[in-house]
Amino acid sequence: MIKYTKPLEQTTWRETEVGGVLTVPGTAREYRTGDWRSQHPVWTKSRCIRCGVCWTVCPEPAIVEEPGGYFDMDPNYCKGCGICARECVTGCISMVPEEE
Ligand code: SF4
Ligand code: SF4
Repeated sequence: MIKYTKPLEQTTWRETEVGGVLTVPGTAREYRTGDWRSQHPVWTKSRCIRCGVCWTVCPEPAIVEEPGGYFDMDPNYCKGCGICARECVTGCISMVPEEE
């Protein structure tokens, strides 16, 4: 197993495993994919039935459950892909452009 001696963002391909194999679980949390985002989801909670589908389909650890069972995004990880808005069963998530 590779033991990284510096931050992941400074690690080059020469220091990764052959085939890009991940040997340590949970490393996705080290990638702050939030800075990819050009739009972000906004929830209309009055129409949310708290089914959790949005949380299930999000490809990043970017949707967090709030007290009461509603959901919101974690700006550190939401990359603005819009899958949550597309799959929301009541259509209560809207994608809004990021402001400069
Ligand atoms: S826009 Fe994409 S990354 Fe962001 S919360 Fe929705 S599904 Fe997750
Ligand atoms: S998929 Fe839509 S209705 Fe279901 S919990 Fe998420 S926001 Fe609410």
